[in-house]
Amino acid sequence: MRFVEADCFHWFDNEYRKGISSLVLERADTLRDTGAAIGIQTNGWRALDQLGVGSKLRQTAIPLIGFLDVSANNVSLKEVPIGYGEARCLKRSVLMETLANDLPIGTVCFGCRILTVKLDAITSYPILQLQDGRVIKAKVVIGCDGVNSVVADFLGLKPPRVSPTSNVRGFTNYPSGHGFSPEFVTINKDHVFLGRIPLNDKLVYWFIARPRTPQDSIVSKDPELMRNSSMESITDFPNEMVEMVKNSELTSLTLTGTRYRAPWDLLLESFRKSTVTVAGDAMHVMGPFLGQGGSAALEDAVVLARCLAKEMCVRTTTDPKRNRNRIEAAMDQYVRERRLRLVHLSTKVYTIGSLLESSSLVMKIICIVLMIIFFRDRLGHTRYDCGKL
Ligand SMILES: Cc1cc2nc3c(=O)[nH]c(=O)nc-3n(C[C@H](O)[C@H](O)[C@H](O)COP(=O)(O)OP(=O)(O)OC[C@H]3O[C@@H](n4cnc5c(N)ncnc54)[C@H](O)[C@@H]3O)c2cc1C
Repeated sequence: MRFVEADCFHWFDNEYRKGISSLVLERADTLRDTGAAIGIQTNGWRALDQLGVGSKLRQTAIPLIGFLDVSANNVSLKEVPIGYGEARCLKRSVLMETLANDLPIGTVCFGCRILTVKLDAITSYPILQLQDGRVIKAKVVIGCDGVNSVVADFLGLKPPRVSPTSNVRGFTNYPSGHGFSPEFVTINKDHVFLGRIPLNDKLVYWFIARPRTPQDSIVSKDPELMRNSSMESITDFPNEMVEMVKNSELTSLTLTGTRYRAPWDLLLESFRKSTVTVAGDAMHVMGPFLGQGGSAALEDAVVLARCLAKEMCVRTTTDPKRNRNRIEAAMDQYVRERRLRLVHLSTKVYTIGSLLESSSLVMKIICIVLMIIFFRDRLGHTRYDCGKL
């Protein structure tokens, strides 16, 4: 059998473009779009362009002109123009559908939950056990199965760490226009971090990162409770923000915890076993403070497809061991290329998260010093280029 199997589709768009047939196993019955929207900056657009869907997606969201930090009394604190870069906020459903529709029919198999991964005792190729009883022998498995990854467990990765922050995300629709400037506006006060991004002149995406509470597991099941708890967390924020949350679309709301892999874990973990590896949140889940997890996943896709194609699109030999070695070498190359980028990105996210979450003055000072020394350029991480497919 010559196909790639896994459970998210970002990469497979790339792999099929490179002539490698693949199957995407998704446990849900339809495309999942949890989280309302996703901010994509220059690095993410580069990856989407490589996937061939950038221009289609650009038509669905307005370009942002910059980032604006404001204080709780609505005074502008810091403005960072996008400059030559690009930032837009996409509906998650639109992103997922566009990527999925670009694949050959039948590539995504819904309702396929992977229970375990193991290696064939003779060939050392992976074998997937599905919940419906099916067993699939694959040449390559790429685990893009998110934060609770079965594939990461197989690789022996440490479980992601839990941060003391919860996130509520949602949309607010303004039928007569919101009138906000096309900027990513953030407010940070007393461990509560609010972000607002317009998608067009009527629709706004917002998120609130706030300290986790013991009630969150109950609140997360009821959109009214999510909205109320969000409003409670921002009572002294500008009125337009409170109104935005008050008028949010209940069906769009989600509340999730924050999980992350620490930078030193990313530096040390081994991300490949035989011809099995991970990508996206399964590899490098990070806090939402830079809005980069999804774009980093798209970068993974481009790099992984490029590395695999180099080895898999050439004529295979009759020696199965040599063929496997070539795939393993391609995956090692992928892990090498991604590791430093991910350590850099996750260190920046970790430092910002610690600054927002910590109550210790000493910790805050350390974080500020780190930011000044290493991350003075606020948009530096968005200039990264994952290269050609
Ligand atoms: C509050 C918040 C805001 C964010 N904002 C941004 C942003 O603005 N920009 C950005 O780039 N990123 C952002 N992110 C990060 C981004 O959402 C994630 O990094 C991205 O969704 C990860 O994609 P993924 O495909 O790796 O994982 P997921 O989106 O979790 O997808 C995993 C898929 O695997 C499936 N699956 C899981 N287990 C199995 C199994 N056993 N068998 C079969 N299928 C399975 C799931 O059903 C799911 O479809 C944010 C995150 C948070 C929490």
